[in-house]
Amino acid sequence: MLRSILILACLGACAAPRPPQSAPVAEPLPHQWHTIGESVEGRPIQVATFGTGSRRVYVIGGIHGDERPGLENVDRLRELLRVDGFLGDTTVRLLRDVNPDGSEHRTRTNANGVDLNRNFPAQNFRPSDGRGPAPLCEPETQALAADLEAFDPDIVMVFHAARRGPFVNFNGPGRLLAERFARAAYDAVGDWRVVPDMGYATPGSLGSWLGDDRGLPVLTIEFGREQDPDVVWPGLEQALVKTLGPGAEDHLAR
Ligand SMILES: [Zn+2]
Repeated sequence: MLRSILILACLGACAAPRPPQSAPVAEPLPHQWHTIGESVEGRPIQVATFGTGSRRVYVIGGIHGDERPGLENVDRLRELLRVDGFLGDTTVRLLRDVNPDGSEHRTRTNANGVDLNRNFPAQNFRPSDGRGPAPLCEPETQALAADLEAFDPDIVMVFHAARRGPFVNFNGPGRLLAERFARAAYDAVGDWRVVPDMGYATPGSLGSWLGDDRGLPVLTIEFGREQDPDVVWPGLEQALVKTLGPGAEDHLAR
């Protein structure tokens, strides 16, 4: 579904993408981090792949550098995904952090001051200083878009944090998946809910692009802004068991 999604919107509007540093010489081992690109300041953007099932789920640990609870649980998530038999008929690609410069500096944006979650080639993209002059003009969004094209997911989940979190927002046909995620997390920690509408415009967001434009279920998972990662984990773990584990595929859209 995501074939041919990479567009050349950057041409003439911003600097050309950096060429890859070197061609991969071998398939990376399962479960191991490997680098798919670099941030503006040269930090690696890393992914790992788990399982061999037919349903393909892409999980992004963080995109806004000042939203910590998801990112701080990525290593736990990786360990969970490595457990034999945890995944049902599902293959998971886990991207650790699409904005490592923002995480280093504790900023929402990347090192160019661009909100990466406003820099995707959605129909509602609007150029500005904070969104970039053109979609995919940042090395981080280029790396993510290329890896999405290569992995060709059926479902995308991305971790954020918000003052009114925790909740799950969705784009595209993601309501059933969002409800299942929130119900499982609620049963573990008691305060999750589904919020279908964020209440403000999100031009150029990943959800706008892949969910609204491309018709993929996209879950935007908003932890509480200041939630302790140790408090977050039990709910997240149960939600992932119910949405990625054996039997989950029977309950999902697509
Ligand atoms: Zn966010």
